[in-house]
Amino acid sequence: MKRIRLRKAVPLLVGCAAMLNPVTYMANPRSNSTSSPLISSLTPFRMPPSGRTFPRLITGDPVIRGATNSDMDPSAKPGDDFYRYANGGWVARTVLPADRQGYDTRAMLTASTRERVHRLIQDAVTTHSAKDSVAQKVGDYYASFMDESSIGSKGLAPLAAEMAAIAAIANKTALSAYLGSTLNHEVDALTSNADHVIGLWVNQGFEDAVHNLPHLWQGGIGLPDRDNYLDTSSTGAELRAKYQAHIAAVLKLAGFADSDPRAARILSLEAHMAGTFAPDSDAADVFKQNNLWKRRDFDVKAPGMDWEAYFKSAGLAKQSDFVVWQPSAIIGVSALAASEAIEEWKDYLRFHLVEHYASVLPEAIKAEHFAFYGMVLTGARQAPKRSEAAIDATNGALGQAVGQLYTHRYFPPEAKAKAQAMVRDLLTAYHARILNLSWMSPQTKGKALAKLAALEIGVGFPDSWIDYSTLNIVRGDAFGNMRRAEAFYHRRDLARLRQPVDPVEWPLDVQVPGAVIMFSPNAEYFSAGILQPPYFDCDGDTASNYGSAGAGMAHEISHSFDELGNTYDARGRLGNWWTDEDRAKFHKEAAKLATQLDAYCPQRDLCVNGKQVLGESIADLAGVLVAHDAYVLSLKGKPDVVIGGLSGEQRFFLAFAQRWRKIQSEAALRKQITTDTHPPGEYRSDTVRNVDGWYKAFNVVPGDRLYIKPEDRVRIW
Ligand SMILES: [Zn+2]
Repeated sequence: MKRIRLRKAVPLLVGCAAMLNPVTYMANPRSNSTSSPLISSLTPFRMPPSGRTFPRLITGDPVIRGATNSDMDPSAKPGDDFYRYANGGWVARTVLPADRQGYDTRAMLTASTRERVHRLIQDAVTTHSAKDSVAQKVGDYYASFMDESSIGSKGLAPLAAEMAAIAAIANKTALSAYLGSTLNHEVDALTSNADHVIGLWVNQGFEDAVHNLPHLWQGGIGLPDRDNYLDTSSTGAELRAKYQAHIAAVLKLAGFADSDPRAARILSLEAHMAGTFAPDSDAADVFKQNNLWKRRDFDVKAPGMDWEAYFKSAGLAKQSDFVVWQPSAIIGVSALAASEAIEEWKDYLRFHLVEHYASVLPEAIKAEHFAFYGMVLTGARQAPKRSEAAIDATNGALGQAVGQLYTHRYFPPEAKAKAQAMVRDLLTAYHARILNLSWMSPQTKGKALAKLAALEIGVGFPDSWIDYSTLNIVRGDAFGNMRRAEAFYHRRDLARLRQPVDPVEWPLDVQVPGAVIMFSPNAEYFSAGILQPPYFDCDGDTASNYGSAGAGMAHEISHSFDELGNTYDARGRLGNWWTDEDRAKFHKEAAKLATQLDAYCPQRDLCVNGKQVLGESIADLAGVLVAHDAYVLSLKGKPDVVIGGLSGEQRFFLAFAQRWRKIQSEAALRKQITTDTHPPGEYRSDTVRNVDGWYKAFNVVPGDRLYIKPEDRVRIW
């Protein structure tokens, strides 16, 4: 239910928006979703139809399931407007949902997959599976979360033991021990504010690819951003006043007297914490997060906290090495543990205890939580349905249990095998492309190939799932289930500290359409949720699979070798492996693509900024080039079949163009062009202009609007 804010720049783990909406990927179950203003106007992007017709599907055969004949506009000439040729029918008939600013394949898949997950979970609720089976845990977690009358009847009794522990804090050592008990698995490299004063992420070191280490994060503020506390404008002051009123309301609901002055002191403590947070600009520079601290460094560099008591109750008494992402915040919170009155800390802890568990506490608490985090912070007018929150909570607590149920029904081993075969072709194609790169020195190529060989790619679902057998889920005990799930992940984290680095540990739920690139360790993951029609069809056409999902995967893989990925080596350790000369040549090639992108103007006063979208556009280009090579490899020298009058080459490029279809409001288009690192979908589709095979497939010739002379086509990869 709470606010885990995504980092503005992501150095270590990329939730690439090419496939993944990063907001859908969250290690933590307690994230608030944002809601969009209601806008339903569409933006016409393109020239009117030319009146002529071009190759089209002549039977009802789907090119890929869900992308049929009627999705295309055969009156558009491919060489003039390939996006409309591929998507014109879909764009014309699709209506922007009233509650959205944009709608595309990803949004469609996210909604339909969520519906599937909902049905699966509800089946688990009614089946009454054997105790300790995966289905029992999933069903009982969800049912307990939905059982609001049971939750209401318990009142705040479930918090009693924790409240007593807070009340018993009498000195700094006890305070430190209590704070240590809150250290938990609630952050990852996409997060900037942990739910407690310090957050924990277990991952390999920045320079150590063998051992897992505890990565420690700043956290503990209730407003989303450090700047919310530092903003001196009247808007900033107004937001803080509303937050203070919210704190007071929660304290009052929890039965504490003098809630107003206590709320003011809690806000003041948080403001002190926020003042020590690292600025957002630091998040863009991963080298600033690479701070290896020995256990004794905490006493010397960050005096105040009784660190021995802290780490003992966190289960880390014997841990010698840590990675401190934001030293200023660790130093800051430690100093505050000594300088601020114990009674103020206790009120802070009481308030945040209630907030942390608001989703499994009575209605009045939930309503107050939503009034601030939903209405004030995100402008939402209506709380999400309880069933939606229950799905999120169940996924958050039992992500891989739900994932097992999902893949059992929707992603058979044959689908995984077929996707893995595609990945093998993509890697073979990358190998050949890297060998032929004109801008990369032979020495750097050696490093790139070593990194490619070591790259771990998870497809569909993990080979081995998290073992939940020690997590007891009891129907009717929503609070206890959440507590036990948190303790389960903490025990698991502590165990992982004693285990070697495992690059096959999945960082995303397979039942969520998404992809994640981990630079450290060197691995990428593509969920079963993203590998479904129209991106990927296990029983469908190979050309379309490679043109759609294949190009998406190849896009992501390119990031491991581009300006983002060259910061990490084959084993995910920090250290640039490009030379300055490689970089200069790369930039020179890339500048040509930026010029191409600058010329895309959906409106007279609105043009794409080539520099801003360059990195992602280079990845799009790599994606289609490499996926096309891989498609050719998959044919093993044989000609592809003709389906519905379309050759394999035509289906490949059509599927590529169809993966970018999107409708959005004018406001959303403007926002995308001014702030997003990805250009609008139609221009991503136009990447084909740089691919020789596309000219041949659709007979594109000089004079066509999208035509580029062979010597001016951009390669890079
Ligand atoms: Zn990307």
